Amino acid sequence: MSEKSKYNFKCLEQKCTTKACHIRPQVTVTLGDLGRWTAQGYLMNIIPGVSMKMPTSEEDGLVLEMARKPLEEKPESTCCIFYNEKANGCEIRYSRPISCRTYPLEFNGEKYYLSSKDCPGVGHGEISKEVLQAARNLAEQEYKERTETDATLPAIYSIIMTELIRQSAEAMKKRSEDEKKEQDTSKSEKSDENPTTENGKDT
Ligand code: SF4
Repeated sequence: MSEKSKYNFKCLEQKCTTKACHIRPQVTVTLGDLGRWTAQGYLMNIIPGVSMKMPTSEEDGLVLEMARKPLEEKPESTCCIFYNEKANGCEIRYSRPISCRTYPLEFNGEKYYLSSKDCPGVGHGEISKEVLQAARNLAEQEYKERTETDATLPAIYSIIMTELIRQSAEAMKKRSEDEKKEQDTSKSEKSDENPTTENGKDT
């Protein structure tokens, strides 16, 4: 028989009253999540619900996160775009990001900790030491994916922005060349309609 761990957790699923995981201020997405969605064939269904948070200070970095929407029952608050209030559940449950799968257990590179005191699943039920170890492994994987994403995202963003700027400059150049050609054509058409003598007088 497996030993029981001191940390007890059981997700209350649809019976949860706090919805803590769905209304937390940031639901991060990792490059690993994008890879899993691609492998599952769901990327294009989920990607419209993913947004990129731009840095607001020098200390901030780029962050991939789930987009948000107002809560129907409390419009001054927001929740994850994939939270279905009527069903009290996740619309992408089996493809939810790793940050949702590990919630509320997190790892910060040194130790495991609870990211929320509002999750009513904590202290509920009993889990074995093996299940706790699996939860810790997932928290470590989430930490690894999150730090890799934080390090890689600015480079990917720079590559995309540089390419967009290059394409935009090329389009502008082509447009001004086309406009110049159009102006030249219209000038020559006008001079054909209104021919003048060499000294500028009408013939
Ligand atoms: S992806 Fe699903 S589980 Fe994660 S916060 Fe959004 S609704 Fe909740």
